[in-house]
Amino acid sequence: MDEFSLIDTYFNRNQIPRADVILGIGDDAACVELKPLHQLVVSTDTLVECVHFLSDWDAYDIGYRSVMVNVSDIAAMGATPCWALLALTLPNLNKGWLERFSNGLHDALNQFNIRLIGGDTTSGPLTITLTLQGQVLNNKAITRSGAKSGNIIWVSGELGGAAAALKRTPRIPETHYQRLQKKLMAPVPRVDLQPILAQYATAAVDISDGLSADLNHICRRSKVGACLSLADIPIHPLVEKYYSNPLTFALSGGDDYELCFTTPAHYKVELVQAGLYPIGVITENTELTGLNEQGEPVSLVPRGFKHF
Ligand code: ADP
Ligand code: MG
Repeated sequence: MDEFSLIDTYFNRNQIPRADVILGIGDDAACVELKPLHQLVVSTDTLVECVHFLSDWDAYDIGYRSVMVNVSDIAAMGATPCWALLALTLPNLNKGWLERFSNGLHDALNQFNIRLIGGDTTSGPLTITLTLQGQVLNNKAITRSGAKSGNIIWVSGELGGAAAALKRTPRIPETHYQRLQKKLMAPVPRVDLQPILAQYATAAVDISDGLSADLNHICRRSKVGACLSLADIPIHPLVEKYYSNPLTFALSGGDDYELCFTTPAHYKVELVQAGLYPIGVITENTELTGLNEQGEPVSLVPRGFKHF
């Protein structure tokens, strides 16, 4: 099997039809049509063996997760994902691995109606780079830089589960541990929140590195600070149950791929009813602080995953 039959066999199949794909896989470049009055939103993410996943991960999970983490970035912009490009570097041509990897990839892409329109295939150490394109109404992308003093800070779901899966405690039984592992392997990007972001959000970020680190990105870009009510941060119940430092996992764990966003304060009721969690307020000073259960201030150091 050469490079070209590999692409046809594993990647140019199971594809959902999209009328806006003028040219997909097979030419020198792909060509797509944007909806009228829309802008292109583009993001790319690389997964490297031993850095982002371990050698013993199933190839299905690697393919599936590589899509989900990219979709999360597009979701954080308040955009809709549409098209993907896959740059794949493989140490060898392992048909079983490719079959499982591409099954995971297509299952994830098809969930969001995303079409794979091209890529690149090379040999070398296992590396997966996925580039995702989405669309958003002209000038309506939600950025990290729009948070204002007095805004409420929200998170879209329970945190800490994915990071806890990477640090298994002997106290946790196997079935419960598998639920945490699912959080890590198969995160659910919050594309469903697009209408809420479009209507209410002043700034947004997805929680890939950890709540404190990612919220800090909003603060730096918006030139504001944040005060978190630590007791209000939603923590995954299994992390609360089995781990001695659940708040640390929620604040600096990462890999949850929930969204953190800010809104003007008067939208509070509707958003609580929509199942979102208010966790603090944006402040004028540029510090990141937390209030403990007694209401006493504790300083927060933005901690999260860093490559260098
Ligand atoms: P070129 O040499 O002109 O860059 P290639 O021969 O590398 O093009 O690729 C042929 C076609 O297959 C192109 O349309 C390219 O986008 C697509 N392609 C290559 N690798 C992949 C991949 N891993 N997944 C999806 N499409 C791919
Ligand atoms: Mg070419």
